[in-house]
Amino acid sequence: MAFLDHAATTPIRPESLVALTVAYEHTGNASSLHAAGRQARKTVEEARESVAASLGCGPSEVIFTSGGTESDNLAVKGLYWARRAEARGRVRVLCSAVEHHAVLDPVAWLGSHEGAVVEHIPVDRLGRIDVDALAHMIALDPDSVALVSVMMANNEVGTVQPIAEVVRLAHAHGIPVHSDGVQAVGSLDVDFRLSGLDALTVSSHKVGGPHGAGALVVGRGVSIEPLLHGGAQERLRSGTLDSPGIAGFAAALAAAVDGHAEAAHRLTSLRNELVAGVLELVPDVVVSGDPDSAGRLPGHAHFSFPGCEGDALLMLLDARGIECSTGSACTAGIPEPSHVLLAMGVDPELARGSLRFSLGHTSTPDDVRTVLNELTPVVERARRAGRPRIRPVSDAVR
Ligand code: PLP
Repeated sequence: MAFLDHAATTPIRPESLVALTVAYEHTGNASSLHAAGRQARKTVEEARESVAASLGCGPSEVIFTSGGTESDNLAVKGLYWARRAEARGRVRVLCSAVEHHAVLDPVAWLGSHEGAVVEHIPVDRLGRIDVDALAHMIALDPDSVALVSVMMANNEVGTVQPIAEVVRLAHAHGIPVHSDGVQAVGSLDVDFRLSGLDALTVSSHKVGGPHGAGALVVGRGVSIEPLLHGGAQERLRSGTLDSPGIAGFAAALAAAVDGHAEAAHRLTSLRNELVAGVLELVPDVVVSGDPDSAGRLPGHAHFSFPGCEGDALLMLLDARGIECSTGSACTAGIPEPSHVLLAMGVDPELARGSLRFSLGHTSTPDDVRTVLNELTPVVERARRAGRPRIRPVSDAVR
């Protein structure tokens, strides 16, 4: 087996498993006043300190959530509602065209239900946002912008975004900036305070922690309306705290962040070996994302195979024990070309033949060798199968 889908989820780290199982031995609810409750509260507050140290923020800025999707929703909707309450005409939401659906969809929902005017910041052929276009969009009417949301690094092609420039442009007009750091945290140097961001999304299972945990870091003094109302256990977020999940998340994050420089070095070299090998085996393959390692996540390799269907490639590789993705795992199964590739100007036909290989903390040179050993017959078979004939609308299943 070769697991090359770490961007979808990565195996749990031993440190996380220990923290998780130790916390599961206790019964308490972190809001209870008795000894068991105090023990659970201690677990949560120690985890908060640890997450804050890993991300370069204060403990009181960490809001534990159920993961990246909830954090993105809380940031986008919460910032929008708070900013619009300050000034009714503040309804423009600017986000990059290559955001994950966890940002794109709440932004679109604000457009269809809450009167937001949605504007997508264009990207270049590498998937990097056009900073001049953003400057122009803001300058048109800065007072009407509720928020800007630009991810730190893209989940499909791995392109790293110029967050410092985004923050500089937005803050010149007092506009808050949210960034989805789900793919970047644990792979790149991320320091919330130094970034100048107002809100940052982090997910546990992408750094080797349990699924269903994560955080939104919200800077001091930043106003956000809550999504969930109830016991207000997390100030901005209600719901009984998942103390074991939070402990497992904090332990995984600390391990990922502490080891990220060494891991980046190792994974960049493995990834480059994979890209070079695939180019040699399939000379007409198209590699997407920034060719400069500094502009791309270390573990990401994205290919488009002309004349192939991505899903066919994926299933043929899976049958040979190789696990990867046709793009974002969250959108896999939808047979349309990825919105990320389309925004980058990739031809829609070519985009349909795409595969993402993503390496992570358990990846080895054997994984790369396995892919290179199996790839040629897989691509030949997928090419022979070709593209499914597109039926006329009249006999399509509705
Ligand atoms: N944002 C990005 C960039 C992602 O890659 C993902 C997951 O694929 C998410 C958000 C959603 O995170 P979660 O799975 O924790 O809800």
